[in-house]
Amino acid sequence: MTTFKPDEIQFLLQTTRQAMQLVQMIQGEMVNEALTKEDRSPVTVADFAAQALVGYHLALAYPNDLLVAEEDSARLKSDPAMLGQVTQFVQRLVQAATPDRVTAWIDHNRVDGGERFWTLDPIDGTKGFLRGDQYAVALALVVEGQVMLGALGCPHLNSNAEPIPNSGALFYAARGYGAWAIDLQQNHTALRLNASGRGDPTRARILRSFESGHTNTSQIDDFARWMNAKGEPVLMDSQAKYAVLAAGGAEILLRLLSSKQPDYREKIWDQAAGSIVLEEAGGRISDLDGKPLDFTLGRSLARNRGILATNGPLHSSALQALRQIGA
Ligand code: AMP
Ligand code: MG
Repeated sequence: MTTFKPDEIQFLLQTTRQAMQLVQMIQGEMVNEALTKEDRSPVTVADFAAQALVGYHLALAYPNDLLVAEEDSARLKSDPAMLGQVTQFVQRLVQAATPDRVTAWIDHNRVDGGERFWTLDPIDGTKGFLRGDQYAVALALVVEGQVMLGALGCPHLNSNAEPIPNSGALFYAARGYGAWAIDLQQNHTALRLNASGRGDPTRARILRSFESGHTNTSQIDDFARWMNAKGEPVLMDSQAKYAVLAAGGAEILLRLLSSKQPDYREKIWDQAAGSIVLEEAGGRISDLDGKPLDFTLGRSLARNRGILATNGPLHSSALQALRQIGA
């Protein structure tokens, strides 16, 4: 099976890191009026700018590689003022940026899936980004349906889990090589991530979306009762939740289906990077029925219902609890 090359890890880290810098710069200067897409998730200048930056780097480093990404340039092209703003921000890191180049980079080798592709969520957790809470820049490489590399840039994640620094971190994993956290301020050596060893459900710490519309909060309460998990579920936006799980700061992450959108299927860029960071830290991930995530079906995990991610030891009891509550 084709896998990945060491230089692709460097590419992953450098690109994610630069995209984070850009996104933080934009957040600092102008957390702005967000557009609303059909799916109601906000799209900002930062989303477009970060995707353009990643497209630029991809075109430079691996011109034939494909990208499955959340945004496309259509809406931006119809809004010259916003395109101008996006271009100005991208120019700070890539001087050659022009409006035409920016839209071309956003659409660079954009596909809906395939045998081997990168997948990007330029800002996962846009609502957290706008609220000043958690968000993540998420980039992953998928080869023949398996996530091989993944990075989560979490600019201001802090947590009581030890390997997570107080000032944000870049988390990454390579299949077979573990999951790691790099402190963004100190720039010191990467620290290895290990999921929690807790096997006692009563001590399980549960992570869920901040946005109640992205999950089913009453079922999460039922779940916690059934597991007899004592703590209140922790609300957090974005795949930063996977970083906390991978670092041993929680045991269970639930993406239950909202009763308003029971047919919602997860997007691959919302799960790819987080899933490998967790798995390489020793955790487990499946859908709510215990099935492995199927990344071969294009933009969505069309054959998976919701997500259960755990530290590992609690996976089977969590699946049992999900069956009991009818989730
Ligand atoms: P979170 O920050 O955990 O709430 O997850 C954010 C992601 O949830 C966004 O990137 C969206 O793609 C995704 N999302 C949007 N609508 C839904 C929904 N109805 N159910 C689950 N996830 C959703
Ligand atoms: Mg997202």
